[in-house]
Amino acid sequence: MLDVDVTATRGSFALRARFRAPTPGITALFGPSGAGKSTLVHALAGLVPAAGRVQLDEATWLDTAAGTDVAAERRRIGYVFQDARLFPHLDVEDNLLYGLRRAPPCDHYARRDEIVALLGLGTLLERRAHQLSGGERQRVALGRALLAQPRLLLLDEPLASIDVARRDEVLPYLESLRDRYSIPMLYVSHQYDEVLRLATHVVLLADGRVLAAGTPAAISVDPALRPLVGVDGVGSVIDTEVIATDPAGTLATLAIGTGRLRVAVADAGVGARVRLQVLARDVILATEPPHALSVRNVLEGTLAELVDEGPDAVLAGIEIEGVRLLARITHAAVTELGLSPGLRVWALVKAASLRGHVYARPAADAADRRGLAAGSPDGHARRPAENEKGRRGDPSLER
Ligand code: ADP
Repeated sequence: MLDVDVTATRGSFALRARFRAPTPGITALFGPSGAGKSTLVHALAGLVPAAGRVQLDEATWLDTAAGTDVAAERRRIGYVFQDARLFPHLDVEDNLLYGLRRAPPCDHYARRDEIVALLGLGTLLERRAHQLSGGERQRVALGRALLAQPRLLLLDEPLASIDVARRDEVLPYLESLRDRYSIPMLYVSHQYDEVLRLATHVVLLADGRVLAAGTPAAISVDPALRPLVGVDGVGSVIDTEVIATDPAGTLATLAIGTGRLRVAVADAGVGARVRLQVLARDVILATEPPHALSVRNVLEGTLAELVDEGPDAVLAGIEIEGVRLLARITHAAVTELGLSPGLRVWALVKAASLRGHVYARPAADAADRRGLAAGSPDGHARRPAENEKGRRGDPSLER
């Protein structure tokens, strides 16, 4: 558990952030520019003065009441910033070795060979930073950070300086790290797409305050998210499972309660956990079971709420056995269909997009990964745990 209750100030800006996020996993700090994401990250890292409490699992980094304030370099945080900050005079191999040399003398959960393989660095080892693409540089930065065997990996907008089209040079590797190691990660981003793809937990930040925190599924239907993602980005996120595939393996049937959705899926077998996004603008409501339609994906549920979104739209929340779907409809539709909470409705899903595989994997895949693991029963390499106390320090990490 990452347990945070901190205050910090920067100029006239005041941060007051309180949240708890499960570990391991990727906690995304999501919010607009100026929300205080960097300030919060710096406060967690011990790089700006902060008061309150910060606890990561059994390690207390800050507890003002008890007089504890562990020095930044002793919190054992691995950083990856927007600019990779590789050493230009060293090749990739030596950049990685630099990370390894910073590791404390403990059991290493991240091994050099495994990191090189996981991050696809094998053919790059003799190159210098200027001979690498932006994505390759970030992969080296990730490897260097991990080889220092950190307790927490802090990723501060690591894709912000990479073209959107080239982000796949890094994103699948981040997913591999998330699924391979039990290291907690804090991922700072103002890109909701990245958050959906990677996060296991989301903290929404605006004006120095936590607006909401929870799983991506819970946050996706939280009204606090709406102004941050805009009208077209509103939609529900559903973590679910592939229960069948077509013979070609390109269409998967997903379970939504007892309902079923068929979506295009590459490379996900039966049992795979997947994350799906259904945008509110892609859902049509009917008050009778529809027939003779080209749309095949129909889910039956109960109309839970109608939220007035201004003159053009109403956002309808539909409850389908514990799953909440959102539909953007018109005021005229509400009147003409006589919609009111409690009514039985059918949601027609025009399109749904896959947002990456989520944390858990099917049994066969998990068994494969166990073969890779450094001696832990669940297939995750373990990171060391110890509690340290000390002084604040290391301004060299300040941005
Ligand atoms: P984000 O990372 O979400 O973009 P920041 O934490 O960088 O937000 O900034 C939050 C607020 O704090 C902004 O209003 C910014 O201008 C202010 N701020 C950040 N750093 C400093 C600083 N060193 N001195 C004064 N104000 C700062």
